[in-house]
Amino acid sequence: MDLEQIYDKALNLLPLNAEEGVELYTRAPLGSLLFIGNTLRQHHNRGKAVGWMIDRNVNLTNICFSQCTFCNFCRKKTSEEAYVTSTDEYKRKIDELYSLGGDQLLLQGGMNPDLGIDYYTGLFRELKKLYPTLKLHALGPPEVVYLARKEHLTYRQILSMLTEAGLDSLPGAGAEILSDRVRKKVSPAKASSEEWLEVMTEAHKLNLPTSATMMYGHIETPRERIEHLIKLRDLQSLKPSGHYGFITFIPWPFQDEGTVLRNKYGISSSYSGADYLRIIALSRIILNNIRNIQASILTVGKETGMLSLHAGANDLGSIMIEENVVSAAGARNRFNADEMQSIIREAGFIPRRRNQKYETIKVTPVL
Ligand code: SF4
Repeated sequence: MDLEQIYDKALNLLPLNAEEGVELYTRAPLGSLLFIGNTLRQHHNRGKAVGWMIDRNVNLTNICFSQCTFCNFCRKKTSEEAYVTSTDEYKRKIDELYSLGGDQLLLQGGMNPDLGIDYYTGLFRELKKLYPTLKLHALGPPEVVYLARKEHLTYRQILSMLTEAGLDSLPGAGAEILSDRVRKKVSPAKASSEEWLEVMTEAHKLNLPTSATMMYGHIETPRERIEHLIKLRDLQSLKPSGHYGFITFIPWPFQDEGTVLRNKYGISSSYSGADYLRIIALSRIILNNIRNIQASILTVGKETGMLSLHAGANDLGSIMIEENVVSAAGARNRFNADEMQSIIREAGFIPRRRNQKYETIKVTPVL
């Protein structure tokens, strides 16, 4: 396959097929990928603005029946470390979030078999009553699949109930790699790739803002990474016109510390900074219908995060006041608001504080 022909196709925003994507990913010089990724970034987001935001990740519970082999966060119900976050703890954490200039909670956690739809809708209502301006970016497709099964309801019904109770946007959590060969090995109890995509289809029909993710670098092949991107692009192409769909895409490498995948099966993270830049560029190239590509500075660190902005990314995500899932498996990069903005400037760009819908926020935070 001629690389020049694939470059032309990519630069003309044409959809690449899996073979073309794999060719670029495995054979194209990094410099060419950076050039194309950066050119396409300018097509989708002209200028030098780079997005960042303030939010707080609060874990609803660490009790989870799923026991994914890449997870070092979940606990069994009988564990001394098991918890379900209390209202008082939410209040303390939200007060702190507000005092730091943020207004969004990223609510994630385990799939706790004791918690049903009434728990989540009750919690969302209570939090919104206490903090009417609070934004909830919460749960993800695996929780929706789990709740639909538990309550004998459709995905649409579950999403509508959560939205009515206060859900503002749905994270693309639990996508990992959208290949059932991979999922059967790393997260067999979780939503299948088809189910994950079905939930997102319903969310897009309901015009719930969503994000898409990829957690890579464990047992998947290069082709499975590319196919993952193509599945997301194809789903995005079906979203109703004018609806949010996937607002952004965020890839991050598998963090292996303390995981069953590493300890029992000897599978370590295959992460390298150069490979992450290839992933960012390929994401920008293949996802020709998703406007924002976010580099996961929390997992890849400052230097690779900065370089990602020259490979097609236009966002560095959140300063994430609290994060316990990937940090439990080794991700230890933390930045405050000033540091985040100076990183963006050092990389040659202009920081633009934004909300979850990627709308600019004009307030200057006091940190
Ligand atoms: S990754 Fe999520 S679903 Fe999987 S075991 Fe951990 S908490 Fe549970």
